Amino acid sequence: MSDRYASFAHTAPGRALVKRLGLPDPPRLRRYHPGDPLTHGPVRVDAAPGGRLVEPLAKLLTSAGVEISDPNTPRQAALLFDATGITDSSGLRALFDFFHPLARALHPSGRVVVFGTPPEDCASIREATAQRALEGLTRSIGKEFRRGTTAQLVYVAPGAERAVESTVRFLLSGRSAYVSGQVIRIGPAEVPEVDWTRPLDGRIALVTGAARGIGATLAEVLAADGARVVALDVPDAGDALAGVANAVGGTAVQLDLTAPDAPLRLADHLADRHGRVDIVVHNAGITRDKTLGRMTPDRWDSVLEVNLSSQERINEVLLDRALIPHGGRLIGVSSIAGIAGNPGQTNYATSKAGVIGLVQSMAPVLADRGITVNAVAPGFIETRLTARIPLVIREVGRRMNSMAQGGLPVDVAQTIAWLASPGSAGITGNVIRVCGQSMLGA
Ligand code: NAD
Repeated sequence: MSDRYASFAHTAPGRALVKRLGLPDPPRLRRYHPGDPLTHGPVRVDAAPGGRLVEPLAKLLTSAGVEISDPNTPRQAALLFDATGITDSSGLRALFDFFHPLARALHPSGRVVVFGTPPEDCASIREATAQRALEGLTRSIGKEFRRGTTAQLVYVAPGAERAVESTVRFLLSGRSAYVSGQVIRIGPAEVPEVDWTRPLDGRIALVTGAARGIGATLAEVLAADGARVVALDVPDAGDALAGVANAVGGTAVQLDLTAPDAPLRLADHLADRHGRVDIVVHNAGITRDKTLGRMTPDRWDSVLEVNLSSQERINEVLLDRALIPHGGRLIGVSSIAGIAGNPGQTNYATSKAGVIGLVQSMAPVLADRGITVNAVAPGFIETRLTARIPLVIREVGRRMNSMAQGGLPVDVAQTIAWLASPGSAGITGNVIRVCGQSMLGA
């Protein structure tokens, strides 16, 4: 769906009018294209005294071909600050000292990443307090810097210093164009060698709801990253599904996820064809909006069934039959409605909050099996789902975020691909919003 306002705002007369009237100014976001360099310019890296990440970061960037700039470089593509050395609130001054002189030095679609220690892993109350404070800085920078800048806080547990590369690569690149204001947690993990041009080479990836929208784009992105995609959707969407599967060289499974025998049929298919499934993305989802007083039981039941219960049943069967091996990735698709709630969406928000519950409760249980469980929570993404929203509400949804525009299916797909990467072994139990830092539930 096209965003006519943004298209107009990108023309010369449009730009002038937007400026004069102080209207929302949606920047052109830098999105990833195969072959792109990691950053479009030099990156400034610094640390508070005692930081344990600054060295591994500098090494990682250099080996990835990124130019590390000195303080006199006028324009930066990204600002990386290792705050793990901050042990009390007076140490927070180091953040001001680093960011203040550089606040106007970022390229459009610049990147800000602050690295900290998870407060729960800190040695003292004062250290935990200071580390928690980092969230306020990063979220505010995301709202303040504008021009497509994204800002994130990455909490790296002690011992996880070598597990950060997939995250650094994702956050610096155009793959994370619509992810901002997020807090990402990385724990210690064995990270295998990764071919960063095709990180999913040889992986089998199941994508539900793959016939259109986010699922169809996800199939493309995972295939481009090297995965063999099993695309699943309802039999009614068979033609579109076949089109997606053929386009990505994958296979199609026509199946209604809510059918009682769906988990067994799916497990049989995966076992017969591939012997396993490395990546499971529960993307299929529906809305049946009505205010609670007007909602019929079938609207409630169908949304809960598709968006949550069927996924639980499928997970259970795939795990019971040991079809998801060590290194496996389970990824749910939640929504900011599941975080913030939404009028007319009690059923949908309940199901999507349930997806978050599923991620958080399964992550520790599956850690021993080397399987990670995470979710993305999209905000306003330009698809058929959001095209149906009445115009005024749609415009509000689109603009009420730090990017002043809706995201694209590819933004969600790239975020899922990052979580699916073998390099993301240290990321589990995370819920990453892909919402351009929406004001809703922020
Ligand atoms: P979409 O309606 O375009 O696609 C959903 C797909 O799921 C469809 O192809 C549909 O046939 C399939 N599906 C539905 N029920 C199924 C079932 N019982 N069995 C198998 N397949 C089934 O939606 P989308 O916008 O691409 O959304 C994808 C996911 O992202 C959903 O979970 C949605 O809730 C979530 N999401 C979307 C947005 C957005 O702005 N578009 C925002 C937040 C979350």
